[in-house]
Amino acid sequence: MDAKDLNKAAVLGAGTMGNGIAQVCAQAGMEVVLFDIAEEPLQKGLANIDRMLAKAVERGKLEQADAAAVRARVSGATQLSEAVAGCDLVIEAVPEKLELKQSVFREVEAAAPARAILASNTSSLSIDKIAASLARPERFLGLHFFNPVPIMKLLEIVVGAQTSEEVLACARGLGERLRKDGIVVKDAPGFASSRLGLAIGLEAMRMVEEGVASAADIDTAMMRGYGFPMGPLKLTDLVGLDVRLGIAEYLASTLGPRFEPPQLLRDMVAAGKLGKKSGQGFYDWSE
Ligand code: NAD
Repeated sequence: MDAKDLNKAAVLGAGTMGNGIAQVCAQAGMEVVLFDIAEEPLQKGLANIDRMLAKAVERGKLEQADAAAVRARVSGATQLSEAVAGCDLVIEAVPEKLELKQSVFREVEAAAPARAILASNTSSLSIDKIAASLARPERFLGLHFFNPVPIMKLLEIVVGAQTSEEVLACARGLGERLRKDGIVVKDAPGFASSRLGLAIGLEAMRMVEEGVASAADIDTAMMRGYGFPMGPLKLTDLVGLDVRLGIAEYLASTLGPRFEPPQLLRDMVAAGKLGKKSGQGFYDWSE
């Protein structure tokens, strides 16, 4: 299938990532069904699309009439079979649990058309392990978007051992259609983005631990010296120290001790210093 023939998409999970993915698909002209297991998270996701579109209009990035047309292309569903019926593309953004994703895709496979491309937005799980639950893994791959989806330009296209060439070609075309810069990565722990981003983040934490410089000065070094839009420690505060610890432990177990979390990170998480969401991390967010 050619990316321009992807007319209808289902996005599974209406949370942080799902509603953003639904929005960019609708902006690219697709009819989109946003699915969640209950009315409340679904409505929250749809309301977030309204908010993001209103902001885009306010900033002059989108005409009011275009925003309304985009919104009109998004509908909601709380029945999976209804959501994926007639779809050309299914993108899953449910919580990061292997068994959950496997069971969701088993249901999807039973209800979606045979032509549909199936994708997971997982940020760390193995694409091949998720695909193990599928009868036709050749139409499955990872489409790793970044938060906030309508703004961040990267799309990591993660190719599983069984993903077909046609499906990869279509995913590349989809990236262009969504106005993202697509990169192709094989199914390896942390893909490209999480692995490299975390390596820098962990080294920055070790430098704080060793008293090499303050968190703010280490961040400034990367911003002013290397053109990073945000330093690795402030980014850690935004992502959540607990989230980064979880990924570091996973990468240490798969890629080796170079990803072993610094003691400082463990101590801060144990003390409840989780970054912005808790009010304290490498920076003070309490005001
Ligand atoms: P989230 O918790 O914000 O949203 C998950 C949504 O899935 C919730 O609305 C929940 O009600 C819904 N859900 C739960 N079980 C479901 C089911 N069986 N079927 C359909 N919906 C179900 O999570 P998120 O941050 O959007 O993350 C979703 C996925 O995206 C994860 O795999 C995560 O690793 C990945 N991801 C997250 C980020 C990020 O910055 N948050 C970035 C890239 C990738």
